[in-house]
Amino acid sequence: MYGDEFKEMARQRALKMIEEGTHNMLGGEIQRSRVKAGTHNFLGGKIQREMNLRRSADGTHPNKIQVTCPFCNKTGGKSNMKRYHFDKCKNSPTYFPNLIKCPHCDVTGVNQYNMYRWHFDNCKYKIIDF
Ligand SMILES: [Zn+2]
Ligand SMILES: [Zn+2]
Repeated sequence: MYGDEFKEMARQRALKMIEEGTHNMLGGEIQRSRVKAGTHNFLGGKIQREMNLRRSADGTHPNKIQVTCPFCNKTGGKSNMKRYHFDKCKNSPTYFPNLIKCPHCDVTGVNQYNMYRWHFDNCKYKIIDF
C-alpha cells in the first residue's frame, strides 16, 4: 500500500537522520542556531502569546471583548457568551428548553403532541425514500 510505503520511507529517513545526528529530536546545529535567532518553531508560541497580549491590551482580543446579555444583563467574554449564553439565556424570548424541530421542514414548536401530529413522520415535507 502506498501509505505504508510512504511511512516506511519516512521512518528510514528519520533513522538515517538520527544516525547522522541531524534529526530534529537531537537538536542539530541548525536547530540551535534557529533557537538563538528566535525563529525556531518552539518559539512560535511566544510570538503568538505576545500578539495576544498586545491584542488584550488594546481590547481587540476576541476573549476580551465584553458583551452584555440584553435579556438578563449578564456580562461576559463575547465568544463565551455567544457560545454558551445567548441561545440558552432563560430570559431570552427565543429560549425554549423543550423546543423540538422537525427535521424535514425545520419547523420548531414546543407542543410535542402537535409536532408529532403534523411533523416528523407525518410531515408533508418528509421525503419518502422509495
Ligand atoms: Zn442572558
Ligand atoms: Zn415538518
